[in-house]
Amino acid sequence: MTRRETLFVSDLHLTAARPDTVSRFLQFLSDRAAQSEQLFILGDLFDAYLGDDDLSSPYREVRAQIRTLTQGGTRVFFQAGNRDFLVGDRFSQDTGASLLGDYTVIDLYGIPTVLTHGDLLCTDDIGYQAARKRVRTPEWRAYALGKPLWLRRLYARWYRFKSGRDKGSKTLEIMDANPDAILDAFKTHAARRMIHGHTHRPAFHQLESMAGMLERLVLPEWNGEEWLLVIDPDGVRKEAFPWHAGISL
Ligand code: MN
Repeated sequence: MTRRETLFVSDLHLTAARPDTVSRFLQFLSDRAAQSEQLFILGDLFDAYLGDDDLSSPYREVRAQIRTLTQGGTRVFFQAGNRDFLVGDRFSQDTGASLLGDYTVIDLYGIPTVLTHGDLLCTDDIGYQAARKRVRTPEWRAYALGKPLWLRRLYARWYRFKSGRDKGSKTLEIMDANPDAILDAFKTHAARRMIHGHTHRPAFHQLESMAGMLERLVLPEWNGEEWLLVIDPDGVRKEAFPWHAGISL
């Protein structure tokens, strides 16, 4: 029996270096997610993603488990984050998950809801937005994916080292969502609710606007204190995971 409900996760940052998080997610897919009608993964599922041809661990296991989930009847949607924007058609074919664009509007039990990873809302980080534009063209993608996997791995190591160094010099404010960008997104997409991750500042925000009350739900990263966002016809709730019995939400 699948429940009439929709689950949202993001920012799992899965990597072979954090096997605990990988196994929690695999467990989540095989039991909790399998009871629901649909699951949205709003980006940064993987801490790094070098192309659909990388079938090392944990990519292989995660793909297989998502496939089992979709074959069991749960619809799965994947929206790229800044870490895993190279997820492509083969991932989609192998898993049965549908790939979503940067902004996707859905009617969720009657509420127009806009989904986005969240990095596009961080407009104060001008350096990041410029770099994002450069790497999100079909040309850059074809160029990068045209390199052999070993070279992409080498490049990714260098990039991680470099971005780890740069991040230290940015203030927390410029890495948060910009209030004007948030309102713009609500307006452009005619939404009353927005769901995103990326900032690792989980919260349910209420915003007053000319169009009435707006709701912005920010998902947590999977850092050991993650919760699950569940939406059904009755409303919105945070749900604790079984491995977090007693966590206060
Ligand atoms: Mn992100």
